[in-house]
Amino acid sequence: MTTIWRVAVPVPLYRVFDYLPIPGSPTPQPGCRIRVPFGVQSLVGCLLDIVDSSDVEPARLRTAAAVLDESPLLRTEDLGLLTWAARYYHHPLGEVLLTAFPVLLRKGRSPMVASVKYLALTETGIRFPLDTLSRAPRQALLLRTLQEANGHRLAESVLAAALPGWRRAAPALIAKGLACHCEQPDDDAWASSPEGVRSHPDPKLNPAQVAAVNAVAETFGRSATFLLEGVTGSGKTEVYLSLVRRVMERGEQCLLLLPEISLTPQIEQRFVNGLGRDVPVFHSRLSELERLQSWMALQSGAAPILLGTRSAVFCPMQRPGLIIVDEEHEASYKQQDGFRFSARDVAIKRARDLGVPIVLGSATPSLESLWNAERQRYRRLRLPDRAGGAAAPPLRLVDVRRQRLVEGLSRRLIDAIDGTLSEGHQALLFINRRGYAPTLICNDCGWVAECRACDARLVIHQRENRLRCHHCAYEQGVPRGCPSCGGRDLRPLGMGTERIEQALEELFPAARLTRIDRDSTATSGSLQEKLADVHSGDVDILIGTQMLAKGHHFPRVTLVGIVDADAMLFATDFRASERMAQLIVQVAGRAGRAEKPGTVLLQTRNPEHPLLQTLIDQGYPGFATLALEERRAAGLPPFGHLAVWRAEAIDGEVPQRFLTRLREHALACCGHGIEVLGPAPAPMLRQSGRHRYQLLLQSRERPALHAVLDQLQPHLTGLTRACKVRWSLDVDPIDCY
Ligand code: ADP
Ligand code: ZN
Ligand code: ZN
Repeated sequence: MTTIWRVAVPVPLYRVFDYLPIPGSPTPQPGCRIRVPFGVQSLVGCLLDIVDSSDVEPARLRTAAAVLDESPLLRTEDLGLLTWAARYYHHPLGEVLLTAFPVLLRKGRSPMVASVKYLALTETGIRFPLDTLSRAPRQALLLRTLQEANGHRLAESVLAAALPGWRRAAPALIAKGLACHCEQPDDDAWASSPEGVRSHPDPKLNPAQVAAVNAVAETFGRSATFLLEGVTGSGKTEVYLSLVRRVMERGEQCLLLLPEISLTPQIEQRFVNGLGRDVPVFHSRLSELERLQSWMALQSGAAPILLGTRSAVFCPMQRPGLIIVDEEHEASYKQQDGFRFSARDVAIKRARDLGVPIVLGSATPSLESLWNAERQRYRRLRLPDRAGGAAAPPLRLVDVRRQRLVEGLSRRLIDAIDGTLSEGHQALLFINRRGYAPTLICNDCGWVAECRACDARLVIHQRENRLRCHHCAYEQGVPRGCPSCGGRDLRPLGMGTERIEQALEELFPAARLTRIDRDSTATSGSLQEKLADVHSGDVDILIGTQMLAKGHHFPRVTLVGIVDADAMLFATDFRASERMAQLIVQVAGRAGRAEKPGTVLLQTRNPEHPLLQTLIDQGYPGFATLALEERRAAGLPPFGHLAVWRAEAIDGEVPQRFLTRLREHALACCGHGIEVLGPAPAPMLRQSGRHRYQLLLQSRERPALHAVLDQLQPHLTGLTRACKVRWSLDVDPIDCY
């Protein structure tokens, strides 16, 4: 009988690979990383299983190269979850498995990370007479420093601070056998005394918060899905903190997912303060090493909690107790390239498999989650009031038709800003477009500046005097004259954050302004600085994009102006109105926190639009009811299920041909109740020089949809080879372009 190692290898192929064991090597367990030869490459894969036969003849099997882990990094349940995810999203298992790991582990690095590097003296070094080194003063100094140090060793970080030249002296001491490098695991990195926890007692929760905490805590040790619906500022974060403390008391761990921690640095601080200990975080602005450390902190059981973004959903837990998904409606939970998983949906599946409760929190839950709560799949918890008793600000429409606007701002909005400033409060203006203006147009001939590679207009960035495409990397200087007619009357059309900022500078010359968007916060630390200014009251008017809508607390803001509520009203995607409502309610939620009541003004040219009307009159719940009815009528999620095939190539014929063939295969294997729509051009047909088309599969029943996708899979390799096309499959897409 032979032994075969079955390995998932990170290649875009829908299969796993068999290898012969390394002779003499102890048998590794599934979940260990294995280095294997693959073609001419050497790749890091993950051991899935040990089997006793292979479909490949033994003589043709290659031998694995190295076992990288002594004990498995992924547990059985992690492998199970990842295998499920690969099947559900129809993505190659090897790529899925390896996305579960932080990059350094994918590259084969040792998982021992929370370690301290030392320079230490050998026995000889400890007794070595200093004067022997009188002709090498740098070495003598280093030797003396180490001889005087506690334990005859010093951490490299300490040495770097104390003796800047030590790195040049060290090799000579090591060569003489006087010193050596050593490394020790830093086990205490995330540990903290239980007293540390108790010294931060729970704040007094209000009755709704207590009810929510108790309802979840009752289900510890079993699976249950909760939808925590709490208006902005209602104290959801306090509920999370209280739950995490309870989980810690049980000796268990909590995984808390957040959309974009790097945008909301305060949240990390609140957990550190609230738990009285350091909290590992996992997000894209950290270094690879920091990410590895945080991942290992949860995986090893050293830390009781991890705060992480999307990809942290796969981080293994030693003692799982609870999963929390904050702002569950956020689009950033869905990965938009490669392995297109939804972290929220994977988290729900994971919690069920682990038998632990999961809490989905939001002020504006997704229509899917609301529907699941409606039909009792999720248990609903409500925090109806703002903590501290502040009233929710009313939304008011400002009809801007037939009005003279000053750079997009109505008289009413300008007066309201004026009033707010004179009371010493802050105003927040929201416009979801960065740059100065989205269009540069010639007033003589109607020419419009467009990207050469995309079907998109170039956005004016006035400060840098550039035109930029927001869909590819293309940019150019702003032309002096019209390239088409030579005219000189080029004008910016429409509004962006920069233009609003400039208009406000002129309208309110004494006011202190700050703009928060991707351009103004590109350098590291600049967002934190700007937020600190807002909090300390050094800012009178904030102008920004949706970056402002995400979980910030701006207690001094009492006026929110939404400059263009229509921009989102007529977008093509079926989720556009849901997004618009969420964004409006979230932005509005920044106003009038604490004791100060707030006002929210929405400028629109469509004051009679039913969705806007419902949102104003009945709030988000009323809007959601109406929007769910529309979805039901159209058979769209959550009443139907979607998968989108996207294909692109320089030559537009190619993706169309590919998708047409795919459509034929799909129709051949389709059962009842599946619709195949397309191929149709993507809303922006040409992007980065490539033509993009899509094929939509829609079904009332999820299993039927997945059955078709399963049957299409075997055709893909042949089709791809025949068509030479770049394609992707998106299961449960969050938008259809
Ligand atoms: P959310 O996460 O729902 O937006 P937070 O948990 O951030 O709400 O709470 C909003 C504000 O109210 C915070 O400043 C918080 O400290 C405060 N807060 C929350 N719960 C209470 C409470 N029970 N009593 C007093 N203040 C509270
Ligand atoms: Zn012109
Ligand atoms: Zn472009």
